[in-house]
Amino acid sequence: METKGTLFDDAMRRLVGAMKYTGFGDEIALRIGTPKSCLVISVPVRRDDGTLDFYTGYRVRHDDTRGPTKGGLRYHPSVSLDEVKSLAFWMTFKCAVVGVPFGGAKGGISVNPKELSPMELERLSRGYIRLVADFIGPDTDIPAPDMYTNERIMGWMMDEYSTIRRQHVPAVITGKPVSMGGSVGRTDATGRGAYYCIRELARKQGLDPATTTVAIQGFGNAGQHVARLLHKDGYRIVAVSDSQGAIYSPGGFDIPSLVRIKEETRRVQAVYCEGALCRAVEATNLSNQELLELDVDILIPAALENQITADNAPRIKARHVVEVANGPTTSEADGILAANGIEVVPDILANAGGVTVSYFEWLQNRSGQYWELQEVHRKLQATMAREFEQVYDLSREIGTDLRTAAYVLAVRRIGETMEAKGTSSYFANHKAH
Ligand code: GLU
Repeated sequence: METKGTLFDDAMRRLVGAMKYTGFGDEIALRIGTPKSCLVISVPVRRDDGTLDFYTGYRVRHDDTRGPTKGGLRYHPSVSLDEVKSLAFWMTFKCAVVGVPFGGAKGGISVNPKELSPMELERLSRGYIRLVADFIGPDTDIPAPDMYTNERIMGWMMDEYSTIRRQHVPAVITGKPVSMGGSVGRTDATGRGAYYCIRELARKQGLDPATTTVAIQGFGNAGQHVARLLHKDGYRIVAVSDSQGAIYSPGGFDIPSLVRIKEETRRVQAVYCEGALCRAVEATNLSNQELLELDVDILIPAALENQITADNAPRIKARHVVEVANGPTTSEADGILAANGIEVVPDILANAGGVTVSYFEWLQNRSGQYWELQEVHRKLQATMAREFEQVYDLSREIGTDLRTAAYVLAVRRIGETMEAKGTSSYFANHKAH
C-alpha cells in the first residue's frame, strides 16, 4: 500500500534520498525543502449571465537561490495548495537540472475551464493577474502555461500585467503568442525536449526505432508532440489515451491522423485520415490503467501525477519509462520499478524542454532580438543532450537510478549557490573579528 501523506511529503522523500550523495549538511536540505512563499487568493469572476463566482487561485515560489522563480499556471478542478507546492518544488529542481538560471514556482486555479465561456475564461485570467501582480515580475517570478492553459491565456495575462504597470512587459510571462513576443518553438518544446531525451537514451542503449514500441498516457500538448516526433522517426506508437480512456493497436497508429481527430472532436479515436476523410481502424479500447501495464519498450506517462504507484508498479512491463507528466510516479513505486530493472527518465529532466524554451523566450524579450526556429531547436537539443549525458553518467558513477542522479545534480547546483551566499558551516569557520 501507498504510504500516507501528501504529494509534497512524497516530493520531500526524494530530496532526503538524494541528500546523502551530495555531501551537503542538514541546513542545505532544510533550505531546499522549504517553500519561500505561498499565496492563496479568491478570484472573482462575473459570469456571462450576470452572477458572480469566486475561484481559489494559488502562486507558490519555492526557491529563488539560482534566479527569479519560474513555473506554469494550471487550470484544473484538482488544483490545491499541496499540489502547487509540489509542482513548485519540482520546478526548482527542473531548472537546476537543465542549468537555466531560474528558481522554481508554480500556480493555478481550482476550476474546470471547460465549464467557462471564452469571455469568462478571459475575465478569470485577467482577474488572477490583478491579484498576483505584486508577487510576479520579469526579475522575480515568471509564470507560463501548464495543464489547460495556453498561449492565448498567457497573452491576456501579459496584457493585463502591462496595463497595471503602465509599460510593455513581455518578459513577465512566457508561452505567449508569437505575435505578442512569444518564442517560436515554445508550443512543442516540452514534447520535443522529451523526444531529444529518448534519442539520447536510444543511442546509449542501442534502441532501433523500427522495433521499439511506445505507449503514451495523455494526449494533451506534450503527449501529442512527443508522439508526433517519435512517429516521424519510425517508432511504433501502439497505444495512446486521454481522460476518457485508451486505444491500443499492436501494429501502431498513424499519429498525424490521431492528432487531427483529437483536434476536431476533442477525443482520442482510432482512425486513419487521408485527405479530408478519416476512417476507423481496428483497435482495442483499454482503460488508462491498462495502458500503463502494456508490454512495450517505452511507456510515456504524459497526464497527471500519481499514476504509477506501489499498487500497479509490480505490473509495469515497459523497459523504459519517460516521464513527460510532472510527478507521475510515487517514491514508493520508484523502488519497485528499479528492482524490476525498469529505467525511468525522470520528469525533472524529461519534461524540462518547456521551461528551457521559456528561458529562451525570456532572453529574447529582454534583448529585443528574436531567434529563428532552427536556432531554438538547436539550442534545446544541445541543452537536453548535454544534461541527459550528465545525469546518465552521474547515475553510473554513484550507482543510482536516473532520478536520484538528477536530484543529486540539481542539489549540487543549488547547494553550491547557497554555500556561496553563506551557511552555518561557513559561519562556524569564519568567526567575526
Ligand atoms: N509548465 C511547464 C512545466 O511544468 C513549463 C514551465 C515554464 O515554462 O516556466 O515545466
